Amino acid sequence: MDIFIEASLGNNSCSTNSYISPSKKNEIVEEIGDMHIGTSADTPLRPDAFDKSDDQKISEIEGHFRKIMEVMGLDLNDDSLSGTPHRVAKMYIQEIFSGLSPANKPDIKLFDNKYKYNEMLVEKGITFYSNCEHHFVPIIGKAHVAYISSGKVIGLSKLNRIVQYYAKRPQVQERLTVQIAEELKRVLQTDDVAVLIDAQHLCVSSRGVQDINSSTVTSYYGGKFKNEFTRQEFIKYVEL
Ligand SMILES: [Zn+2]
Repeated sequence: MDIFIEASLGNNSCSTNSYISPSKKNEIVEEIGDMHIGTSADTPLRPDAFDKSDDQKISEIEGHFRKIMEVMGLDLNDDSLSGTPHRVAKMYIQEIFSGLSPANKPDIKLFDNKYKYNEMLVEKGITFYSNCEHHFVPIIGKAHVAYISSGKVIGLSKLNRIVQYYAKRPQVQERLTVQIAEELKRVLQTDDVAVLIDAQHLCVSSRGVQDINSSTVTSYYGGKFKNEFTRQEFIKYVEL
């Protein structure tokens, strides 16, 4: 059978259609997964992503997941397994991938900066659980975020909620970093934001090269954080 795939990688937005043999296609699929190459800063979503209700999605995923388990030879009549397709479907939509739905985006209210606190505010060590979009296994990490007030301040728990919202999507770490930074800039009405993420990818530790000691660090520095002195101050606080 002839297989055509649409190749669109990196920042190059042009795409090409060309003939690729099944074995070559498999090689490309593995390579994208192993290198954890993301294709854009926005989560790739279909235009009809939110046409179905959450209940409809749960019911469909339940059916598909049951099929996957059956193909693997599992006996769904077993009491321990019979509820798994429904549990997985509910967990996908309501918990670990709930950040795909704009309806779950945290509603942020800003307050006036009454104390005239114009220094850096750092919220560090925000633990998050995400999932690698190439293998659908966990990414576990810590996010450290900072901003310098432009006259408005945000409730501290909201910084945490913004991190959790974008983490609860199929992700690549670079995109997660940029999405958090862009949202902080938007809600805080300033470019002066920083995001530093240190995370372990279970697709690297539990499978593939099985390296249990490595972690991946990504960062975003906007506005005043591009200044070396400001950036060092932020890193110093994170290391405290
Ligand atoms: Zn992966």
